[in-house]
Amino acid sequence: MLFPTIVFSQKECEVTYISNEGFLIEIDGIKVMVDALFDEIKENWCDSPSDSITDLMKNSKPPFDNIDIIAITHKHVDHFNESIVVQHMLSNQNGIVICPNQVNAILAENPNYQKIKDRIISITPEPMSDSNIVVSNVSIKVLRLEHSGSMKKDPESGEMVNRHHDVENVGYLFSINGDKIFHCGDTNPLNEKEYNTFELYKEEIDIAFVERLFFTFYREKDLEMISKFLNPDNIIMHIRPEDKGAYFDYAYQKDGVYVFINKMESINIEVQ
Ligand SMILES: [Zn+2]
Repeated sequence: MLFPTIVFSQKECEVTYISNEGFLIEIDGIKVMVDALFDEIKENWCDSPSDSITDLMKNSKPPFDNIDIIAITHKHVDHFNESIVVQHMLSNQNGIVICPNQVNAILAENPNYQKIKDRIISITPEPMSDSNIVVSNVSIKVLRLEHSGSMKKDPESGEMVNRHHDVENVGYLFSINGDKIFHCGDTNPLNEKEYNTFELYKEEIDIAFVERLFFTFYREKDLEMISKFLNPDNIIMHIRPEDKGAYFDYAYQKDGVYVFINKMESINIEVQ
């Protein structure tokens, strides 16, 4: 007698590290780029793409061909460059940009904006809120996440204020044929209230791209906090160049934690 067998189809998600928090993600033939379209930053506080990588992105050449979704978390130069986004969009006639309104306002200043504006979805949910959209058969939850604090003393009030308070930062939860990929942008890992509100740990996230400040603030408790907030099966840690060696040693033995050392390195992660 034959018994039906339940087959769990294992799928692979290919992740390529571009620079900083910029990644190319490919799963089920869908290609998503997050925070990848920027160029050289002439300081050593973050990785940035070389000219040859930037050229490939501008001209939609492999591996940056046929990108379905270009997601941008916020306007900072280590996540977004207006001219490169527009050039990419002109060479990729089917791609859709999703970004917060502040990023769209910068794109609107580009002389070629009219040619691409119909393929831009600009959305900034209110603080503590999210919005759901569908792009290229991918469901996307756009979450307003406070930009991490760079605390400075306000010269007038004397109070400590978050220098990035007004930066619209959004996180993205992509649902691609049931597989869930999360990218938090420059979230503030100390904002527990926000993460408690969103209850992302209930989402069964397959892969979470996580901001380096989880490690900066929580050190060896970082994975505990990421589990508490997100509970993902796999974590891709964004780490400052200077911390990579130390983090690699610390995280090396841990299941499902990945740290990229080299730009344009790709890995395959099994998802169900
Ligand atoms: Zn930022």
